[in-house]
Amino acid sequence: MARYVVIASSNGSVGMRAAADVLASGGSALDAVEAGCRLVESNPEDHTVGLGGLPNLVGEVELDASITDGRTRATGAVAALKGYEHPISIARRVMERTPHVLLAGEGAARFAGEMGFERAELLTPEAQTEWEGKLRDEDPDLEPGLLRYHEHAARYLHLTRDPEKPAGGTVNFLALDAAGNLACAVSTSGWYFKYPGRVGDSPIVGAGNYADNRYGAAACTGRGELAIRAVTAHSVVMHLTYGLTVRDALRHALEDANSLEDAYGTGLSLLALDPHGDHAGVSNRAGSHYVWMNEETPEPQQEVREVVGAGT
Ligand code: ASP
Repeated sequence: MARYVVIASSNGSVGMRAAADVLASGGSALDAVEAGCRLVESNPEDHTVGLGGLPNLVGEVELDASITDGRTRATGAVAALKGYEHPISIARRVMERTPHVLLAGEGAARFAGEMGFERAELLTPEAQTEWEGKLRDEDPDLEPGLLRYHEHAARYLHLTRDPEKPAGGTVNFLALDAAGNLACAVSTSGWYFKYPGRVGDSPIVGAGNYADNRYGAAACTGRGELAIRAVTAHSVVMHLTYGLTVRDALRHALEDANSLEDAYGTGLSLLALDPHGDHAGVSNRAGSHYVWMNEETPEPQQEVREVVGAGT
């Protein structure tokens, strides 16, 4: 059995070492996934998470995040949070300092302020340019589902445009620490062009994030509406309770999500890690991978995700 393991979606590379350092020095899985996630949230090059995340339909960056503790199955989450760079740490405070699981919108921002988190401007000039450009572009390479999504968004924008303002992705971190505890952190700016207030799977326990020391942890990236409808992260762990391998549990959960129809795209990718340190990733799109480290790897390792079904 591995002494510790951390795995992340590929954009988690920038936070892998920080997460592994926490685990190597005997720290908890919870601290590790938070530490890894924070570096991705601060990476302005990543337009899918935290600072530099692409904005919603009206040009505001709205963030979702959650953290789960496999030891207690405690969870904290924030949704549609504006103005704070580290939603993952605020989610952790929700878990540790409130009797609640999920705070949204103004309440989440109010709580962040009360907890002493500093406000931040999250819309970088690059993200703003990207947002304006994407709205204008008729990108011939867009997948059919995404194209329909853009057309729909453009119609909404027409209704909501603020003349004062110029006209997807996520990070997953899952860790197993030397004490045998699992934790999972998910953070995202959600689908760009999303309707203001739209909440994806990332802050919904069971949909985009789940961890249970007894069986395993799982997390999702991609079209959150599907992961919510299929309760995908919990479904992976449910399959683990029946004795399936990590890979088979992921396959079954993704096959189930793949059976749902969604006119706006069905791309979904999953990661899972079990209490023995076994891990795997699946995606319904080709060419996707994830990264991992354990006590034997000095550098982050890349792993290809198995393709299960086809997403649009
Ligand atoms: N799952 C995220 C959401 O639906 C977005 C993504 O991972 O692409 O908000």
